[in-house]
Amino acid sequence: MPNTLDQIIRPEILSLSAYHVPSSIGMIKLDAMENPYSLPKNLRDEIARLVANVSTNRYPDTNAASLKVALREAMGVPLGMDIMLGNGSDEIIQIVALAVSRPGAVLMSVEPAFAMFRIIATFTGMEYSGIPLKADFSLDLDAMLTAITKCQPAVIFIAYPNNPTGNLFDAEAVSRIIEAAPGVVVVDEAYHAFADASFMSKLTQHPNLLLMRTLSKSGLAGLRLGLLVGRPEWLTQLEKLRLPYNVGVITQLVVEKVLQYPDVLQQQAAAIKAERVVMSECLKALDGVEVFPTDANFILLRVNEAGQVFLELKKRGVLIKNLDGSHPLLRDCLRVTIGTPDENEQFLEALQTLIKKPIN
Ligand SMILES: *Cc1c(COP(=O)(O)O)cnc(C)c1O
Repeated sequence: MPNTLDQIIRPEILSLSAYHVPSSIGMIKLDAMENPYSLPKNLRDEIARLVANVSTNRYPDTNAASLKVALREAMGVPLGMDIMLGNGSDEIIQIVALAVSRPGAVLMSVEPAFAMFRIIATFTGMEYSGIPLKADFSLDLDAMLTAITKCQPAVIFIAYPNNPTGNLFDAEAVSRIIEAAPGVVVVDEAYHAFADASFMSKLTQHPNLLLMRTLSKSGLAGLRLGLLVGRPEWLTQLEKLRLPYNVGVITQLVVEKVLQYPDVLQQQAAAIKAERVVMSECLKALDGVEVFPTDANFILLRVNEAGQVFLELKKRGVLIKNLDGSHPLLRDCLRVTIGTPDENEQFLEALQTLIKKPIN
């Protein structure tokens, strides 16, 4: 007789809950930080022709050399730095964690932060330490420095801008953390397309800094491509953990093609940023809504009875993210992704009717 499943599977896996993705069929989808715009017709036609001629019987280029040249140019990667590609940046988080995991090793981040930092720490056998942000979601530098001294984290992940709060942390504070860290620090710039700040140019100053980006939030979520930029000595080690063909041939070809037209995604990001201003203003004008500052393609807000508002929006066909209950600092918080002007208007109208105060 084999052992029972819960004797075989590790206890920390048994107690994890799977990353939940709700069904969104037929809904206005403002829950996952996707770019709401599709690629222009002429570019899609070009992509169709390219894909028609792909040798799908052959393995992709394991080094994705041609794509990396295009990425280097598009992202302004400093000379002397290498690029490692992942099947989304989620996979890169996993690769970094696998490389540093050993009994007792700590993966540190802030709280609230991107949920995958904690989940991946758990399943790669690391200890997770999440240091609370201040109530305004800024970095608690003193708490971070104390925790770094105490836990000696093998790796620290800092999303810049942060998800789910949307803000950029003070760059000076992040630099202090990088300098104080005994291990490696990964600055996760998933929302870089919507922010006007980056640690890319600081890679040369800090020997323990790695910079992560993704194409997902800027418009290519379905292709699954993330990248890690850093010193060759780091990436040489991490490359040993990357499975040889983790980025498919279609992803390589299509991303490279889209990068030949840099204006396309840039103009879409500009439209999203413009809508972000409109939407923030409209939300601020509503009674009973607290709106937090954002440098990303989503807005964090606080309302009364967030859980109820979330469900009522869903009934009206608008899917956003309910963060109430996920962390004490996120009490009654909702996160809404910037959609098209039309989608945003439908969201705002639905929200407005829901939170309207009773007329006495
Ligand atoms: C969305 C997100 C990612 C993961 O993106 P991929 O689609 O896996 O590239 C990583 N970090 C943060 C902070 C995110 O919000």
